[in-house]
Amino acid sequence: MRQTLLILFVIIFYACNTSQKIVEPKTTNQENNSQLPEEVIIAPIVSIPYVSKDDVKNSMEYLASDELEGRATGTEGIEKAARYIENFMHSNGIQPYFETYRDNFEFENSRAAKSGEDAPLVKGFNIVGLIEGVDPLLKKEYIILGGHYDHIGFGKEVNGDSIANGANDDASGTIAAMEIGKYFAKSKTNKRSILITLFSAEEMGLRGSRHLAKRLSNVGIDAYTMINFEMIGVPRAADKTVAYMSGYERSNFAETLNKYAKEDIIGFFDQAKAMNLFMRSDNFPFYNALKIPAHAISTFDFSNFDYYHHVDDEADKMNYDHMANFINKMIPALEGMMNAPNKEVILKNE
Ligand SMILES: [Zn+2]
Repeated sequence: MRQTLLILFVIIFYACNTSQKIVEPKTTNQENNSQLPEEVIIAPIVSIPYVSKDDVKNSMEYLASDELEGRATGTEGIEKAARYIENFMHSNGIQPYFETYRDNFEFENSRAAKSGEDAPLVKGFNIVGLIEGVDPLLKKEYIILGGHYDHIGFGKEVNGDSIANGANDDASGTIAAMEIGKYFAKSKTNKRSILITLFSAEEMGLRGSRHLAKRLSNVGIDAYTMINFEMIGVPRAADKTVAYMSGYERSNFAETLNKYAKEDIIGFFDQAKAMNLFMRSDNFPFYNALKIPAHAISTFDFSNFDYYHHVDDEADKMNYDHMANFINKMIPALEGMMNAPNKEVILKNE
């Protein structure tokens, strides 16, 4: 009897063990699946949402709140935004790239200078966070992901409201970069290193990004690519790609991202080319100073949002399902690009 029990135990043990080794559940029929022990985890078919809509919304409702008074460079409002972003980075394991998160610069207020006034210099600061790569060699190469966290401050009054909250422009892009940074700081699935760069004084002539691109060039950083998220708060029409890239034909960046996304998420947009958006946002100084593929990615196409630089560019006008969806599609696309053995994204001859 004892021997029979022992034999039975051995049979059950081996049976369980072999069923745990089943790696291809597609080959077993439904009946067999239901008999598998609980330990066998079958990969879900639906894609994992990396970023939650609520987290996106929470950051938006603070960064675009009236309390921050439109986040103009040199004001108390942008100081509050900076502290929020620094706290976010610190509590999510994103390290400071320099001695602190801030990259300070100052410049002459051009409006005051033109009128001959003796105006004090405007002080600005970019926020720069680092997620170190996990590969001992590839971590020396950097992927730069950014957006501008400043806005224009006050705008033309409408119904007693004069605060230009800058939700779409560009709290949305700022939050995309922050959430992607949060994801990689936790997952540690990036072989190359990532810089999360949030710029100030974009609205005063790309001053923050110009300063940082030059500083990184001076320290001889091995930068691979740069993406500037600019206005990703509202969706495009259903027959268009989720987003488009400025300077689309200047590199193979969009096609590389689409390859890893396994769908065409980033497209060409004729108006972006006609208006030369490539040179009009914070990606351009990185192209200029570092000679790397550096583009803006946007979902604002002039037909889907009426409040550009308007006091109604507010948090309640944003589409959070779209924002979370866009960010969740960007993460695997970026992950593929940042982990490829070679620098496959290259500038095309113009
Ligand atoms: Zn902008």
